[in-house]
Amino acid sequence: MQLRVETASPWDWRWQLRNSISSVEQLAERLSLTPGEQQGAERAAAQGFPIGITPYYFGLVDPSDPSCPIRRQVVPDEAEAREVPGDLRDPLGEEAHSPAPELVQRYPDRALLLVTDQCAVYCRFCTRSRMVGAGEGPRPDQRLEPALEYLRSHPEVRDVILSGGDLLSMATSRVRRVVESVRAISSVETIRLATRVPVVLPMRIDDELLAALRPFHPLWVMTHFNHPKELTSEARAALNRLADAGFPVMNQSVLLRGVNDRAETLEALFRGLIRERARPYYLLQADPVRGTGHLRTPLDVGLGIMDQLQGRLTGIAMPKFIVDTPGGMGKVPVLPEWVVSRRAATDTAPGSTTLRTWRGVEVDYIDPPV
Ligand SMILES: *Cc1c(COP(=O)(O)O)cnc(C)c1O
Ligand code: SF4
Repeated sequence: MQLRVETASPWDWRWQLRNSISSVEQLAERLSLTPGEQQGAERAAAQGFPIGITPYYFGLVDPSDPSCPIRRQVVPDEAEAREVPGDLRDPLGEEAHSPAPELVQRYPDRALLLVTDQCAVYCRFCTRSRMVGAGEGPRPDQRLEPALEYLRSHPEVRDVILSGGDLLSMATSRVRRVVESVRAISSVETIRLATRVPVVLPMRIDDELLAALRPFHPLWVMTHFNHPKELTSEARAALNRLADAGFPVMNQSVLLRGVNDRAETLEALFRGLIRERARPYYLLQADPVRGTGHLRTPLDVGLGIMDQLQGRLTGIAMPKFIVDTPGGMGKVPVLPEWVVSRRAATDTAPGSTTLRTWRGVEVDYIDPPV
């Protein structure tokens, strides 16, 4: 009899990936699809961005509600075929800002290394849908070597974000090798693992993975919870295992129409995250990815939500609201109008600023004399 690793349980992450829903038939078997979803799924299977949903994450879908916030994130819709003004294939101009294959650099001190095109789940709003899920899989060592060589010869890059795709969809030995080779570059100070795995495949955050990565601290985990329903007991346990193993965990949410575009929803999400020691870092305005117009909100919606949350939500749960500017010119934090007016200093009076507080009152701040 041969010994083999037991992977026959739904609590094993490999079982989850092997049993992922990836075809129209599998989807239609489990869900009574609306005509729009049926059409969207057929289009995705034929030519679009692939379908991919772990059984675990599918378990959060409400089968009786087509507007379920989990369902909207992963079940394709016919609207994906629609292009609206401003839509771009590569909204962040990543292809134009690539100093080496699989490397994106848009800021002097940090860069993004795309280590695989696979994910545990394919999110319908994905910014990188032009290349994610293309089926090539984890990048072999020799394909990443030019990017590593670039990082070695550019010591100004001190923060490397490992992304893709989702690196934690790769085998642990492969994750470890990639992290080890970036950690071997002495000028790299921090490494960030950008992953949706704690949300869609929390059982992947197991002891084996944590033991493999711990030697390479400081490693930061950038995760991607979008809705309070995603904070299941399994996901919360995964966040706690990460925190216990010494990983600072930061969350980036994408603001999505019909998913999380209400202050009450985001407040519940952000409060839930800090209870598990994960810091709400960014609330990202959805990028104008081609075929995602139905999932995006006007900028005013995000500004209104930030206005409602300011002062009412503890500061450690307040993310920055960010627009990643089309064309790859960089992220811009945007704020509601807290500054009402400013007056420059004169010969007789110091400068002053009128501020609107969260209570709605206006207060003057007087500068010190020049
Ligand atoms: C978003 C992004 C970063 C990280 O930005 P921070 O504001 O430091 O979190 C770095 N490089 C690229 C190319 C990015 O898109
Ligand atoms: S996990 Fe991230 S990279 Fe993968 S499909 Fe979702 S948003 Fe895109």
